[in-house]
Amino acid sequence: MKRLILATRNAHKVTELRAILAGAGLDVELVGADAYPEIPDVKETGVTFAENALLKAHALARATGHPAVADDSGLCVDVLNGAPGIFSARWAGRHGDDKANLDLLLAQLSDIADEHRGAHFACAAALALPDGTERVVEGRLEGTLRHEPAGSGGFGYDPVLQPLGESRTCAQLTAEEKNAISHRGEAFRALVPVVRELLG
Ligand code: IMP
Repeated sequence: MKRLILATRNAHKVTELRAILAGAGLDVELVGADAYPEIPDVKETGVTFAENALLKAHALARATGHPAVADDSGLCVDVLNGAPGIFSARWAGRHGDDKANLDLLLAQLSDIADEHRGAHFACAAALALPDGTERVVEGRLEGTLRHEPAGSGGFGYDPVLQPLGESRTCAQLTAEEKNAISHRGEAFRALVPVVRELLG
């Protein structure tokens, strides 16, 4: 069975991609970056989601000698010309402070009316082989931003993004409901033919 590494220490992402690959009948052993604790995390120096996903996938493929997948994602707000974008995780200054990021975004948009509150989550997923072969796919979840957070599920900006056609925010969906429509789910599903082509 071919080994494929997913460049993440997030067990939920590994479970999600593993289920998608198994559901497509692909005979691949997917492991997270935790299987290689000696390999340091890569600096995300790219200026697009795709560049950062490729940087991480190539670094891991080179270091392990196995094909590697990496994803990079964020929130893109129409009225902010696509920001926070690649800065989503550190919008308020400190990496990973979800509450501060969310509070700052809501403050910035406080005067913006409903019809101008369009936004989407974007995800790029890259697959790299140790020989340098690369592919990138992308996924999106379109929605609008609430004025106040609602819901306790999910993470990041989930409490304020209401997907198009939904009356609930992403933080009010079950994990299964979110995976079915999410940017990451869409990108991971788009990886299936790529994995089949390069590893099958
Ligand atoms: P990552 O690339 O998956 O680590 O995501 C970077 C940042 O984008 C996260 O820290 C969140 O702020 C934001 N983000 C990405 N995906 C989601 C999502 O599905 N829900 C909420 N926030 C997200």
